[in-house]
Amino acid sequence: MDSFRMVLIPHCGGCGTDVPAAAVGQLPVTSRLLDPSVHRRLEADGWHIKPGSRGINKGIIDPIGGDSLTCPACVAVHQAAAETATARLTADLSRPRVKILGMADRLGDGWTLTQRDGDVGCHRWLVEREGTVRGQVRRYKRRTSQTYSPGWEAFTLGGTHWFRRDAIHSCQHTPGSSFLWSGRDVAAWGVAFAPGHDSPRPEWSRRAPRIPKASG
Ligand SMILES: [Zn+2]
Repeated sequence: MDSFRMVLIPHCGGCGTDVPAAAVGQLPVTSRLLDPSVHRRLEADGWHIKPGSRGINKGIIDPIGGDSLTCPACVAVHQAAAETATARLTADLSRPRVKILGMADRLGDGWTLTQRDGDVGCHRWLVEREGTVRGQVRRYKRRTSQTYSPGWEAFTLGGTHWFRRDAIHSCQHTPGSSFLWSGRDVAAWGVAFAPGHDSPRPEWSRRAPRIPKASG
C-alpha cells in the first residue's frame, strides 16, 4: 500500500496560483514557512510575502502561522484598489468646510472640528489637526431609527479606514456600555489622544460642583 504524504505547494492566497517551481527549488515543501532565500527569489519576481510566525508554525497543516503569499497579479489588483480608495477618500475629505470650530482650549493648538456640506444633517464632525483629518465623531443613529441618540461614536482614521474607538470608562454615554461617548468633545478628545480605558474625564468636561443655595 502506498503511504499517504501531505504535500504543500506554496501558492497565492488570493487566486491560488502556485509559486514558480524554480523559485522554491525542491517541491513539495513540508513547512508553511519558506526558506528566506525563497522569499528573496519570490520578491524579486514581484510576489508579496507576509512572513508567518515561527513560534506558532505547526507544519504544513497550520493555516495561521504560515507564510502568506500574494502573486504579482493580485499585488497589482490590491494596489489599484488601494489607490482608488485613497483617491476617493482624499476627494471626500477635501470638500469645502461649512463650519470650523477651534478646539485649542480643549484639545490644544491646531485642533479643530469641521463640517462639510452634508455633515450638519447627520451630526458628523471631522477631527482635524493643522488641517489633517485624524478622525471623525458623529451622533449615533440606529439604521432603522429616525432619531439620533445623545451618545456619540468616535472613529480614528488609519490609512483609508475608519477604526471605531470605544468610549473609555469615564466617558461612556451609559454606564457599562463602551460603545458610545457621552458627548461630542470627549469623543473628539478620544480620537485625538487615545486615552487609556481607566483615564479620568478631561478637566474641562467635568461638571462644575453643585453649590447648595444658601437658604433664608
Ligand atoms: Zn494571485
